[in-house]
Amino acid sequence: MKIVFATGNPHKLQEVNDIVKGSGIEFVLPNEGFNPIENGSTFEENSLIKAKEAYRVSGMMCLADDTGLCVDALDGAPGLYSARYAGSQKEKIEKLLGELKGVENRSAKFVCCMTLLNDKGEMIYQTTGVCNGSIIKEAKGINGFGYDPIFEVAGMGCTMAEMSEAEKNKISHRANALGDVINYLESL
Ligand code: IMP
Repeated sequence: MKIVFATGNPHKLQEVNDIVKGSGIEFVLPNEGFNPIENGSTFEENSLIKAKEAYRVSGMMCLADDTGLCVDALDGAPGLYSARYAGSQKEKIEKLLGELKGVENRSAKFVCCMTLLNDKGEMIYQTTGVCNGSIIKEAKGINGFGYDPIFEVAGMGCTMAEMSEAEKNKISHRANALGDVINYLESL
């Protein structure tokens, strides 16, 4: 079954395809012109906006995710603004580490909300996956993307960027949400 995955990020597409390997599902990129305006006020709203935009350009069943890193000591920031928190990803990481300078409570979580639309463009399922951890003081590891090098996964003793893709895909926020989506699709 082919499902459009509402992203322009090939790394993310690869990650979700690795997670669903063997399930009979294949995610493909949206058609050209995919340009969602993420002006919702929750992960749920933004993920629905992205799913609807992917449906608009493709007319196929679509799955979208909206993801953010929520840091407890920063009242959940960068949260919804994780992608727009600073310029490059290196700058985003530097800004976050700067804001947490001298802060003891480093606990944080990745949140991933996924929204599934059927081939008529109707929302049929929405779920949220979480991965708990903490923000370390210096980036470590070269795998993954985004905030992975500063996010130490709870109970693992290493950052997401120090894990192999296969390891990350067993415990990540995205894998948790996608597991729910696969269960839902299999229940149909
Ligand atoms: P988006 O909603 O997927 O576009 O993600 C928002 C922000 O969170 C971007 O800055 C991403 O780099 C970051 N992000 C999303 N997923 C991950 C992840 O699995 N690891 C690290 N950062 C992520």
